[in-house]
Amino acid sequence: PRFPVPACGGHGSLVSPLLQERSARLRRWYELMMENKEELARIITAENGKPLKEAQGEITYSASFLEWFAEEARRIYGDVIPASAKDRRVLVLKQPVGVAAIITPWNFPSAMITRKVGAALAAGCTVVVKPAEDTPLSALALGELANQAGIPAGVYNVVPCSRQQTAAVGEVLCTDPLVSKISFTGSTATGKILLKHAAGTVKRVSMELGGHAPFIVFDSANVDQAVAGALASKYRNSGQTCVCTNRFLVQKGIHDEFVEKFAKAIDKELHVGNGFDAKTTQGPLINEKAVEKVEKHIKDAVSQGASVVTGGKRHSLGKNFFEPTLLTNVTTKMLCTQEETFGPLAPVIRFETEAEAVAIANAANVGLAGYFYSQDPAQIWRVAEQLEVGMVGVNEGIISSAECPFGGVKESGLGREGSKYGIDEYLEIKYVCFGGL
Ligand code: ADP
Repeated sequence: PRFPVPACGGHGSLVSPLLQERSARLRRWYELMMENKEELARIITAENGKPLKEAQGEITYSASFLEWFAEEARRIYGDVIPASAKDRRVLVLKQPVGVAAIITPWNFPSAMITRKVGAALAAGCTVVVKPAEDTPLSALALGELANQAGIPAGVYNVVPCSRQQTAAVGEVLCTDPLVSKISFTGSTATGKILLKHAAGTVKRVSMELGGHAPFIVFDSANVDQAVAGALASKYRNSGQTCVCTNRFLVQKGIHDEFVEKFAKAIDKELHVGNGFDAKTTQGPLINEKAVEKVEKHIKDAVSQGASVVTGGKRHSLGKNFFEPTLLTNVTTKMLCTQEETFGPLAPVIRFETEAEAVAIANAANVGLAGYFYSQDPAQIWRVAEQLEVGMVGVNEGIISSAECPFGGVKESGLGREGSKYGIDEYLEIKYVCFGGL
């Protein structure tokens, strides 16, 4: 059956015919998140390591999707289409796709869940969430609040699992005929595995995969604004977000001033330490593998002629702590400009012309976010239209919010989350033709 769990009506469940009720329970879930913001943030810092202030920010962001989709639940409109035959009338209905399997990463242990689940529940679907093995606690805490919000048992389900179990659990979720939809956020490599699994039963899929965000600073830019944007876009969550800048492209006329001010800002404003310490802006990386990747990218770049302006090595605190790093004299031959680093490394490539910068930016096989700084309106339009990405920040380094569509092009994924488009990922379109009238 396409809808193994009653998706409309019955059993006094969340999926009641009363949209108002679905909406109200999502809204209550949102309110409970905000009422418990401090505790939820502490869970994130404990399991992920990010600074408490960032964790509090994540909870506000995370909860905003429940609030947004509580509202969107009431705007699932169909259509009446003028028919070409006199004796026909044509309707379009929107129906929930059914059970959605939701597989999420560790970098936003709460928000990556609500961004999907808010939309799914608003549409009338039920969900099975498999959180990342490093961060299962936020997913379970959300479950407790879902219960308190009156979301019926069986609607929001969580299946935490160990690293050894991940592949097997993932395979069940992505191949079982009872599951109609897969929504995944994570690496492109894992996304491709899940797409292959999904093919067997032709499931609907949404994929939010890796990025390789360019951050272009043109000669016309306001350099102080660019430095502030660079700091936020690169070092948030210690560089561990899919929309974090991965490569800086800086035009030759502004290059030296930008590098000098950026290095100063890094040294003055970034503090590595325990996420629970109020001064900390940079927590540890998620695990040893993540640290090794940053080290590998730095070693490769330096061996090919890059210069370390600041940072460059493991932090004296040990474990998974790493120094925020800035490299110059970087070329497109270096690993750090070819693949996602997912860590606190800022490589700077110097360029001469706009066309050159756009060509370097678009050479990637992924296209999630892209940023650029310019004060020239014609250039702003040209570059915004030419960048092969799903999201563009013009003179802004942080651009995601509930009302805006999040997603990428190329190998960065399929579909959009948040915004008025996000709910479509969980809805089927059904055309109904009334004949013989
Ligand atoms: P990362 O390398 O950053 O951990 P992944 O894409 O591997 O990114 O992880 C994102 C999510 O995908 C996590 O929940 C992880 O458990 C899950 N995952 C990883 N491999 C598989 C797999 N083979 N099947 C299903 N889920 C998987």
